[in-house]
Amino acid sequence: MSQKLFEDIQNLFEFFDQCLNVKFFIESEKKKNELIITNKEQKQEDIRKDYKQENKVNKSIYDEIVEMHMKIGEPYMEIKEEKRKLLEDIAMRIINCKMCELHKERKKAVPGDGSPTARVVFVGEAPGYEEDKKGKPFVGKSGNLLMSKIKDILGLDRSEVFITNIVRCRPPQNRTPEKNEIEKCSPYLLEELNIIDPQLVVALGAPAAKVLLMRDEKITELRGNFYKRSDYTVFVTFHPAYVLRNPGVMDIFNEDFKKIAEFLRSI
Ligand code: SF4
Repeated sequence: MSQKLFEDIQNLFEFFDQCLNVKFFIESEKKKNELIITNKEQKQEDIRKDYKQENKVNKSIYDEIVEMHMKIGEPYMEIKEEKRKLLEDIAMRIINCKMCELHKERKKAVPGDGSPTARVVFVGEAPGYEEDKKGKPFVGKSGNLLMSKIKDILGLDRSEVFITNIVRCRPPQNRTPEKNEIEKCSPYLLEELNIIDPQLVVALGAPAAKVLLMRDEKITELRGNFYKRSDYTVFVTFHPAYVLRNPGVMDIFNEDFKKIAEFLRSI
């Protein structure tokens, strides 16, 4: 199954979930031709057993999906378009924002970037030199490292995920954002997450983890773990810039991305 088709199916499932109160699962990476349909209230495990035993749904998922997509494609596209417009509205507010001192030295403010229906959102700290110049997140060296892991380990394209930061204007000399700057800027992140409604949010580094988890531990204590929140799950790993400065942790970074891939396959 191509990644594009997989994303289309996943998006379609999200639409069913949101609008029709019917939940769909792709049972496993190897068994993507098995479609399981259930109501939200029923236990996932029971349903899996029932459908396996009765073998009710064992024909090609593609025919089912194409048929259903033809029927409901239009409202689904409207939802995606609506999310895109809401994210554009946030981006415009960020571009014009002067709520903290960081706006004074920025070349460009940097809104989030990517799919409005992404299953996974990556959250960094703040724009660096390249991002400030281009107005886009993670386009410098650390962005290249992040994109290589997203592509090689998760099998996803940049356009299939959403990438953002807790602070949207570059701090002078790339210093760590100050508390008041994070407090003023992080509501934009929470708005983005509310609109996208992802299944997984990956905190890249301690400042992002602190905002998303409201916890103060060191990155070495938080990383490598999943944290269930009411709306989504948070996973914590190193910021790619830290990995570039400390190549000895590259293997750990790779292992973290394998855990993310496993999580995405399991939901
Ligand atoms: S860092 Fe955030 S709060 Fe501060 S000016 Fe930029 S967009 Fe506004």
